[in-house]
Amino acid sequence: MNYLSLSDYLKNKYGTKVYKLSLASGCTCPNRDGTISTGGCIFCSEGGSGDFAAEYGDLDVQIKEARARVDAKISAKIPANERKYIAYFQSFTNTYGNQAQLMKLFSKVLEYPEIVGLSIGTRPDCLSNEMIDFLSKLNKKKEVWVELGLQTIHENTAKMINRGYELPVFEDSYKRLTQAGLKVVVHVILGLPGESDEDILETVKYLADLKPVLFGIKLQLLHILKGTKLADMYEKNPFHIYELDEYCTLVGKCLTLLPKETVVHRITGDGPKKLLIAPLWSGNKKLVMNTMRNYISNL
Ligand code: SF4
Repeated sequence: MNYLSLSDYLKNKYGTKVYKLSLASGCTCPNRDGTISTGGCIFCSEGGSGDFAAEYGDLDVQIKEARARVDAKISAKIPANERKYIAYFQSFTNTYGNQAQLMKLFSKVLEYPEIVGLSIGTRPDCLSNEMIDFLSKLNKKKEVWVELGLQTIHENTAKMINRGYELPVFEDSYKRLTQAGLKVVVHVILGLPGESDEDILETVKYLADLKPVLFGIKLQLLHILKGTKLADMYEKNPFHIYELDEYCTLVGKCLTLLPKETVVHRITGDGPKKLLIAPLWSGNKKLVMNTMRNYISNL
């Protein structure tokens, strides 16, 4: 079975592989600083759902360091001046903070010639019309994606994970972002406690039916990470965690629901090994990706 992966989308568009540079905006999150709650989403670790991100600081330095990390894995055959990158603000809520400063940061990052696009991870309840208008203008120069952590459409699960907003908030943001011409990437977690495969497929079907068509989706395996509320829950009351074969089957079903033009940014997750409690098989990235690719290509 074929689906449009992020690397294919980027290769088709830019004629080469494009790499992500993880950067920090210095923002916190209203679901952790007490504005909505202090606890955060139950699966969120100290790194704010971005445990591989950079330290906040001077943008030149951040980009230099992020490039050094990424370039170390790129073949020397690709000359440094031909490499292309997406600037990715992943950790915490990257539109939650001083709006003028954030706009300056987003604008500045797109001035780097090697950076072809910008991806901003945020919450749907933290997107002002002014920020959307601003991002829409930037999007005319280089592409801008806004990533929203929806995780599920089911309100009982959303409450249990302490997401801190209801589905209509997502719907309103989706409408405003897409009307402004911005590309939206939605995160879904597969394996939240209490959710059956059918519940997860309902979430994916809902996203597959969105109008306008959803630009991108991240299917993320639930990771139980040390130091999270989810880890406490799991310790007290262990719940079902997917085995790799079950997960492959479920992801296969999700992919069949999605429109051909929706870009699949991820089919699993990448929780840091040092924090990972379960499922331990997910720590073997190579095995996971090979097994999943093999399974999907035979569908
Ligand atoms: S919204 Fe994101 S950063 Fe905030 S608590 Fe939830 S997962 Fe963590």
